[in-house]
Amino acid sequence: MANDNKILIFDTTLRDGEQSAGIGLTKFEKLEIATQLNKLNVDIIEAGFPASSPGDFESVKLISEKIKEPVIAALARCVPSDVEAAWIAIKNAENPRIHVFINSSDIQIINQLKKDREEVLNMAVFCVEKAKKYCDDVEFSPMDASRTDMNFLYQLIEATVKAGATTINIPDTVGYTMPWEFKNQIENIIHNVPGMDKIVTSVHCHNDLGLSVANSLAAITAGARQIEGCINGLGERAGNAALEEVIMAIETRKDLLKVETDINTKEIYKTSRLVSDITGFPVQPNKAIVGANAFRHASGIHQDGVIKSKSTFEIMDPKSIGLTGNTLVLSKLSGRAGLKSRLEDLGYNLSSEEINKTFEEFKILADKKREVTNQDLESLMSNQKRSERSSGQFELVSIDIESGSNKNPTAKIDIKNTQNNKIKRSTSTGTGPVDAIYKAINKQIDLKVILNEWRIEAVTEGIDAIGDAIVKLEHEGSLVVGRGSDTDILVASAKAYIDGLNKLSNK
Ligand SMILES: [Zn+2]
Repeated sequence: MANDNKILIFDTTLRDGEQSAGIGLTKFEKLEIATQLNKLNVDIIEAGFPASSPGDFESVKLISEKIKEPVIAALARCVPSDVEAAWIAIKNAENPRIHVFINSSDIQIINQLKKDREEVLNMAVFCVEKAKKYCDDVEFSPMDASRTDMNFLYQLIEATVKAGATTINIPDTVGYTMPWEFKNQIENIIHNVPGMDKIVTSVHCHNDLGLSVANSLAAITAGARQIEGCINGLGERAGNAALEEVIMAIETRKDLLKVETDINTKEIYKTSRLVSDITGFPVQPNKAIVGANAFRHASGIHQDGVIKSKSTFEIMDPKSIGLTGNTLVLSKLSGRAGLKSRLEDLGYNLSSEEINKTFEEFKILADKKREVTNQDLESLMSNQKRSERSSGQFELVSIDIESGSNKNPTAKIDIKNTQNNKIKRSTSTGTGPVDAIYKAINKQIDLKVILNEWRIEAVTEGIDAIGDAIVKLEHEGSLVVGRGSDTDILVASAKAYIDGLNKLSNK
């Protein structure tokens, strides 16, 4: 297996990524991300850690039932009840995998587990054997492997391979290792541990020193054939290896790496946008591959070169990640057919009913903005999906805001309760217009929430851009992201707050 040139892409956005501070996704949001990961054609989706919470258990179960092509993995500590919970959650998957892990470095064995190496070895073997009874596909990870004594690591890996592990994952859990050091380590493991030629060697690199992608690629040159990571580099602390970077590095430097993936790279941009949209984690503009500036040439010399021949300063074709460019625009004079074909170019194949609905929304937008760009259309489509996702109890009907340098900010808001179809009005003042809006909404919706974050982003350039409001709301320890878009940022803010409240009341 180690000689195969195919690199398996293992996505852990829904597990390690969701662990990142401040993200709380509902099971439907997770399913939506999993559906997109399936379109991206990742080989393995780590859907969650079922023993960690009932919500996680439910999400893993739902994804296992709905997403059939990729392997669906569930994480478990080396604790029998964790392995059982993982199995119950994924047993309906077409291709289930149980992923068990245990601390292996002395620092973590002594300080965190308060055990010794022998106990760790026994627990690992016991739980891999237990997992193997449920399911053929078992992955084992010695946590903090890169800081583990190599002889103990060999022993632990050999024993778990004998116990039935089919993938051995070497995590650089704390993002400590250097690429050349990691390459050596992976080579040593593959050469010194009996049985490694029959299983898949995987790596899981964290980005504390900004080296997660470099370490992953170094591991490939040493024989690793599965790379774990997250979309947009999400994950604990500084995050995991950004999968889009690993994938495009493999794609762009085939000449050197001589390996390939089965990824449909044209879905990369859309996947990145969706993950950012749902998690509320923005993508930095200068982020490799998916940042807003990743394919923009600012210097005159570079622009001149690119106009003469793209390859002068572009190592990748933006189309290869599904970026369609922003040059063509639609206006309010554009017809249904024009809209339909543009949406098809962007990868949205809508039924005639859906086109009709989208066309109505497009007309409203085109009335407000002179030109409607691809980005506007993508925002429109993600807005539609968002409202399907959070179609909840409360709907914004109308809002009136008064504010200014000499005024006391006041908001008057009408909200429909879809359970009884009644519209209620409330009014409030506040320190600013957003404060007034949220206080007015709070008067109607009886849910004590803490507003952890409020942010406005412009979806496109120009003063007529659509504003995207993002809020993070906390209620009894659960965190949700609410979003809303409008050309009026105060209306967007109201929509985002109501979206968040709907999600909390669904939880
Ligand atoms: Zn991790």
